[in-house]
Amino acid sequence: MSITVFSHQYCSLHRVSEVHPEEPARIAAINDQIIRSGMEFALTQKDAEPADREDLLRVHAANYVDDVFDRAPTEPDQHIWLDPDTMMTAGTLRAALYAAGSGICAVDEVFTAENRRAFCSVRPPGHHATWDAAMGFCIFNNVAVATAYAMHKYGLERVAIVDFDVHHGNGTEDIFLNDERVLFCSSFQHPLYPNSGTETISHEVINIPLPAGCDGPTWQAAVRERWFPAIDAFEPQLIMVSAGFDGHMEDDMAQFNLTETDYHWIAQELKALAERYCEGRIVAMLEGGYDHSSLGRSVVAFLKGMQ
Ligand SMILES: [Zn+2]
Repeated sequence: MSITVFSHQYCSLHRVSEVHPEEPARIAAINDQIIRSGMEFALTQKDAEPADREDLLRVHAANYVDDVFDRAPTEPDQHIWLDPDTMMTAGTLRAALYAAGSGICAVDEVFTAENRRAFCSVRPPGHHATWDAAMGFCIFNNVAVATAYAMHKYGLERVAIVDFDVHHGNGTEDIFLNDERVLFCSSFQHPLYPNSGTETISHEVINIPLPAGCDGPTWQAAVRERWFPAIDAFEPQLIMVSAGFDGHMEDDMAQFNLTETDYHWIAQELKALAERYCEGRIVAMLEGGYDHSSLGRSVVAFLKGMQ
């Protein structure tokens, strides 16, 4: 069994500016490290397909989706702002549709193909996008689109979403807050953008705010203590992952001190949980990670952990 990696060249069409950290070179950096590691021969690489309107409407308000489509620039020199951090240029809508659609392809892959684990190397990221708003570089909530599709298509009643991006996955929490079919586990630096996740009261939301400077052993201990018993009790039929690597010590976007070792560890732990409860099924989707070298190395470590 190998891991299927979904991506698409259209994910590079979304370009904000020469200096914006959420840039096409992130995907290239991941590909470079996969090749350098020799791992490409252990992976099944496939092109993603785009999400359609019906897929988006399971997790987003119709007027929000319509607004994104209506306002999407079509000329090379055009741009619009959906929120103070989130710009759309001419290629953005197509990139966002392929990013959201990749998770749907990955869900189908782990339920119908031999491979039980998939990784979506896509952008723009998704976990800050709420029911009715873009936020923090995110337009459509990719992991939420895939989770809702999995519940719709395969009749799942219990999906665990694990989000280890250094920022709180506020959008994912917002979308599934009142849905008992989804267990949401998020660890994040606090205080830090978007400064949410410390007051959520729900049995299906396990938030772990941690201070700047948090290192690997501290993060692992918190995850082991808070997430794993909740996942054990929930017995998920699928594990989805918002895989953000901006908590790496070399990533300037925040002040966590995680390393590749930590991403390898969480992948191994999630794989063990998935094998216990859901025949090994994991779909992981790229979120943050802005330092190209550590991003590429971290994704490789994560993929090796899931093998
Ligand atoms: Zn992030």
